[in-house]
Amino acid sequence: MLNEHQPLIFELSKEGRIGYSLPELDVPEVNVAEVIPSEYIRTEEAELPEVSELDIMRHYTALSKRNHGVDSGFYPLGSCTMKYNPKVNEQAARMAGFAHIHPLQEENTVQGALGLMYDLQEHLKEITGMDEVTLQPAAGAHGEWTGLMLIRAFHETNGDHHRTKVIVPDSAHGTNPASATVAGLETVTVKSNDQGLVDLEDLRRVVGEDTAALMLTNPNTLGLFEENILEMAEIVHGAGGKLYYDGANLNAVLSKARPGDMGFDVVHLNLHKTFTGPHGGGGPGSGPVGVKADLIPFLPKPVLVKVEDRYHLEYDRPQAIGRVKPFYGNFGINVRAYTYIRSMGPDGLKAVTENAVLNANYMMRRLAEHYDLPFDRHCKHEFVLSGKRQKKLGVRTLDIAKRLLDFGYHPPTIYFPLIVEESMMIEPTETESKETLDAFIDVMIQIAKEAEENPEIVQEAPHTTVVKRLDETLAARKPVLRYQKEQ
Ligand SMILES: *Cc1c(COP(=O)(O)O)cnc(C)c1O
Repeated sequence: MLNEHQPLIFELSKEGRIGYSLPELDVPEVNVAEVIPSEYIRTEEAELPEVSELDIMRHYTALSKRNHGVDSGFYPLGSCTMKYNPKVNEQAARMAGFAHIHPLQEENTVQGALGLMYDLQEHLKEITGMDEVTLQPAAGAHGEWTGLMLIRAFHETNGDHHRTKVIVPDSAHGTNPASATVAGLETVTVKSNDQGLVDLEDLRRVVGEDTAALMLTNPNTLGLFEENILEMAEIVHGAGGKLYYDGANLNAVLSKARPGDMGFDVVHLNLHKTFTGPHGGGGPGSGPVGVKADLIPFLPKPVLVKVEDRYHLEYDRPQAIGRVKPFYGNFGINVRAYTYIRSMGPDGLKAVTENAVLNANYMMRRLAEHYDLPFDRHCKHEFVLSGKRQKKLGVRTLDIAKRLLDFGYHPPTIYFPLIVEESMMIEPTETESKETLDAFIDVMIQIAKEAEENPEIVQEAPHTTVVKRLDETLAARKPVLRYQKEQ
């Protein structure tokens, strides 16, 4: 039983123990072999655990109590924007008219849902400064790939088949080069300067006739705003390339600056970060893509259009890259994001950015006395510390992250970005109170002191969790993801 005071019993199944009861069959029995093709009919019993209802309740309840979520504690996981997800979003997503519709329903029976999608697109156009938006992509990386496919289609339509290179700064999110590769393009890295910003000289050197696009994360993964953005746009556009904005972390610039105004041609957003879709654990997400006018013809189809006061899915789009997701994208997440935008309003969204940036700078300044701060400038929504000083004392960033678990915190993102030694990427978000920030800061200061005075306590952490340090390689390479009957 998964209770910290009891010994661990992994196998709960007992032959013949039953946790369900079904009513007696009161319709004619069908012969399964007549309705299901034989290759789909199971020939052996499914090896399912046999447990009572009480056992299964305790099992899942105990597991849920072990889970760290933003509703149970502070979660400063840099770049992931683990802010509070308002519960009113859940109410909206569960309304029967949204939750119980079927993706194959006739257009005229889902006008409300299509209307919400259309309105959401309009809001995102306004927020990003783009001319059109698609809601199809299922997550950030999927949006990146979609955006790059649009850029590729644009160049190919213009006969520019040689434009195959995507310039990606070394401070970019890891998904950027990966998306470029999957889109059939090649990544060229551009270096950061000693201020943590894209080195313009290096950009001029790598840009050229073969440039398909520059892909920029802004604020970059150091939490710094790329202040030479207009000059960068000029350099890339001057060479005939497109500008791609990784807007996964729009929490930092929302209602203050718009990618469209900075000269970007394509942007993706992470509705599950900035716009409060619950995330962590792998999804579902939503990664809408916004484009400027010259890329509209290539958008994935169907495209949602409004004709008089009716909404219509348009399939007749000969230049479209195709469909990138079945049906309408992750509709439930879009309902949540729409609810969030409408309940915050423009002033609320502005306050989000201001408080996210204020919280991050407050925490950065207080922690900079105890940890190394590699780029000493104002940050945006997050900042990066280095555990270099602690490493000299034999305490690594991984140890610090594990020690935080003893205090009930989710650790920050560690060892990313790669350009900072022993990095810790901390994103407090705007939804946390000063008291929460101070409590976390105090713990971080205590850990820095422990590294000096009593390093073993950090090196051997965690001390209070049910399991200690796991073999992370084994867990990644040979995950056990489902019930397997004991032999
Ligand atoms: C989270 C993130 C992504 C990837 O988004 P997913 O939804 O996880 O695919 C891309 N870029 C940046 C900057 C991010 O923070």
